[in-house]
Amino acid sequence: MAQLSPQSLLALDRAHVWHPYGPMPGTATPYVVESASGVRLRLAEPVAGHRELVDGMSSWWAAIHGYGHPVLDEAVRDQLGRMSHVMFGGLTHEPAVRLAATLVEITPEPLRHVFLADSGSVAVEVAMKMCLQYWQSVGRPAKRRLLTWRGGYHGDTFHPMSVCDPEGGMHQLWGGVLPRQLFAGEPPAGFDAPVDEAYATELADLIERHADELAAVIVEPVVQGAGGMRFHSPGYLRLLRRLCDEHGVLLVFDEIATGFGRTGELFAAGHAGVSPDVMCLGKALTGGYLTMAATLCTGEIADGISRGEVPVLAHGPTFMGNPLAAAVANASIGLLLGQDWQVGVKRVEAGLTAGLAPAAEVPGVADVRVLGGIGVVQLDHPVDMAAATAAAAREGVWLRPFRDLIYTMPPYVTGDEDLARIGAAVTAAAVAG
Ligand SMILES: *Cc1c(COP(=O)(O)O)cnc(C)c1O
Repeated sequence: MAQLSPQSLLALDRAHVWHPYGPMPGTATPYVVESASGVRLRLAEPVAGHRELVDGMSSWWAAIHGYGHPVLDEAVRDQLGRMSHVMFGGLTHEPAVRLAATLVEITPEPLRHVFLADSGSVAVEVAMKMCLQYWQSVGRPAKRRLLTWRGGYHGDTFHPMSVCDPEGGMHQLWGGVLPRQLFAGEPPAGFDAPVDEAYATELADLIERHADELAAVIVEPVVQGAGGMRFHSPGYLRLLRRLCDEHGVLLVFDEIATGFGRTGELFAAGHAGVSPDVMCLGKALTGGYLTMAATLCTGEIADGISRGEVPVLAHGPTFMGNPLAAAVANASIGLLLGQDWQVGVKRVEAGLTAGLAPAAEVPGVADVRVLGGIGVVQLDHPVDMAAATAAAAREGVWLRPFRDLIYTMPPYVTGDEDLARIGAAVTAAAVAG
């Protein structure tokens, strides 16, 4: 097949291809990526003199080991030699079974059962379905609403959208369509901040007052990602665990962004020392190679569902348990746990802390914060995305700012010099944006 020139590729792209959260036809010109290796994206044409950009985004927080990692490449090739896919209804295979067993082993104790889905949004759908079906099965069908706090993000399909932040999300557009969930205020900011008593009372009142109709509380633990890159105290997770136990409400942690070491603990629940009843994983699960997500639940939830009038979990994606994705997920988890990953994430944290410090002096910057492998510069105004992206590219770095946020979640393997570069690029983007 003939290769497209970058110009004709971009013309076809603009004419036919939707991009995330984009208009049609597209209005911004994306960079054409030819290949990726280590922490670098190789472009078809240079941007500001750079043919390669250091990836400050890990491809939306997934590529924790970088690109073209020999161990991960080999896992995919090896699995490809056996089979790339077979249906999961009536059949099973080692990559998926090993992955499920590993996830049960490395997540908090009461999580015992694994549903392998094909994207994070679907994993959240399945989590919600598990919770609603559990209460239905045990004779409490009125418990079918969810509670969350503002500022969250849980995916783009309809039920996950209903628990995304009502202002930052798409609620205005879908007011009449989305199920009406319950919202507490945003969790008070600051990983190290003490638990705010007034906010704790707000959570307690909401859960107590609505316990009869609440199936579950769903939150992103410690870090709210796409909803605003905000950090909160693990104390609120301990509080939610206690309140949910007291009032017979299930607790769901969406760890799709935070899982696999990103916040400095293997799972963010580890900062609080509590376990949810349901946990969602995705993004870094396959090291950014293939699309796969997982929903884990306790034995109690699975038993409840299985004792119900409809004793099955009625969900089964075509590509459930995909062997290629499962094989590379197994390899990625092995790679992570086979090294001193906590030291690696601490090194990234130190590099980002030093690299982002100058941004605090930039006029228009409201806050600079770092936790684990996450570095955030928040402006006091909406970012000029084109100007900020171009400024980062001039420094040789790929960043994708949004709203009032310029942030980075680099691969854990990013070297110290490249971390310094990312720091300079985030600062340059803050100046330009
Ligand atoms: C990205 C994300 C999702 C959605 O995952 P997709 O794979 O994009 O569907 C859900 N929850 C959180 C916390 C996420 O960061």
